[in-house]
Amino acid sequence: MSDPSAAAYEAVIGLEVHVHLKTRSKVFCGCPASFGAPPNTNVCPVCLGLPGSLPVLNEAALRSALLAGLMLGCRIAPFSKFDRKNYFYPDLPKNYQISQYDLPLCAGGGLEIEADGRRRRIGITRVHLEEDAGRLVHTEGGAGGSGVDFNRTGVPLLEIVSEPELRGPEEAVAYLKELRRTLRYIGVSDCDMEKGSLRCDANVSIRPRGAAALGVKVEVKNMNSFRAVGKALAHEIERQARALAEGERIARETRLWEAEAGVTRPMRGKEEAHDYRYFPDPDLVPVVPAAALVEELRASLPEPPLRRRDRFADRYGLPAYDAEVLTAERETADYFEACVAAGAEPKAASNLIMGEMLRLLKEAGIPIREAKVAPAGIAELTRLVAAGEVSGTAAKEVFAEMFAAGRGAEEIVRARGLAQLSDEGELERVVGEVLRANPQSAADYRAGKAKALGFIVGRVMKATKGRANPGLVNKILKKALG
Ligand SMILES: [Zn+2]
Repeated sequence: MSDPSAAAYEAVIGLEVHVHLKTRSKVFCGCPASFGAPPNTNVCPVCLGLPGSLPVLNEAALRSALLAGLMLGCRIAPFSKFDRKNYFYPDLPKNYQISQYDLPLCAGGGLEIEADGRRRRIGITRVHLEEDAGRLVHTEGGAGGSGVDFNRTGVPLLEIVSEPELRGPEEAVAYLKELRRTLRYIGVSDCDMEKGSLRCDANVSIRPRGAAALGVKVEVKNMNSFRAVGKALAHEIERQARALAEGERIARETRLWEAEAGVTRPMRGKEEAHDYRYFPDPDLVPVVPAAALVEELRASLPEPPLRRRDRFADRYGLPAYDAEVLTAERETADYFEACVAAGAEPKAASNLIMGEMLRLLKEAGIPIREAKVAPAGIAELTRLVAAGEVSGTAAKEVFAEMFAAGRGAEEIVRARGLAQLSDEGELERVVGEVLRANPQSAADYRAGKAKALGFIVGRVMKATKGRANPGLVNKILKKALG
């Protein structure tokens, strides 16, 4: 922070995150919950709020919400209900949103995060299920007016509220990224901020460093990327510190982040819960999750990403960076472990996956589960490299063909003559030829110019089309050059 007065204050941040649950249909009707359909094509009397229609809870949405709550270490409420949150807005056809107020589905969890190399557990106050609102579409310049698209109305949303325990923008961003990874691990949401399937609002206050009482909190909205969250929070903390240093009072309000100007601006006074006149929705039965269902979901939970990262470093002796990249997505981590189970040396498999594999997958625009290279193929290729039968350079070429054609490593090596040349007699002959053709380089090396050796090795590689065993070439050369 550029303002020195900011150092006297500490930030207190809580995040309210909304994620779209990846269900086929909406949360209270049978309409598709998909993204990108033409406006107002995924609608019915229920999600349009027409008189006489009745909502019915989508079981898949409930399961996803419970799974997320369990993954985040929450208690599952033995009894919870849906409430109506009343407010008027053109994208809300019923004039109320079905949400949960005093009896959320899940409460009292936590998420371990890593920021600035330190681990901390951030408390999660509650996780509840609600419906999304529609979307206002404004035409360019406003000439054609504004329209409303109700396709998103009724798409299941999970609201995840953290305790006000985040102490700065770095921690807030680390929390969001860890939450995204964790929810993607259980497959309940894509958590794609660009498509709006993960949205984040922040409550920010500051207080004198070491003080117990909380300052006045300001809600910040309209942050559309992780970067925007970091920048908006840094700006807002500095703005509050500057205001307090100048003797101003902080207003309790909602502010919008304006990315282009790089500032937050007041939007409205902060509403209170009683402004919404919450009351139980009489159209929906209370939710009483069966103990057997909760236990079934609990038993299906995967190892959390951060714990898996630690295990990859410990068990496979991988550098911290490798462990982080490999566990970023559950599919990648599963694939790596399948390679090791098939006999691949862990670090060699990690290099191939993090390098060639992820690059080619990105180019092809496909997920790892659609790759034609089976884990056994990775094991086969790393074995050939370790045994000196294929050079590291040739291995990349072999892998590219395995990826494109789905053929086995040995088969490609044989068919394309890529086997490493380790025949000493043959290599001595090639080295002799190269030295005779490049007498100046040989003389330079003998005169103490170590660089000249690299040039000669390069010529040998060229003469053997990259197949020469580099260790053997070096040994033969040093002998030949005395
Ligand atoms: Zn509908």
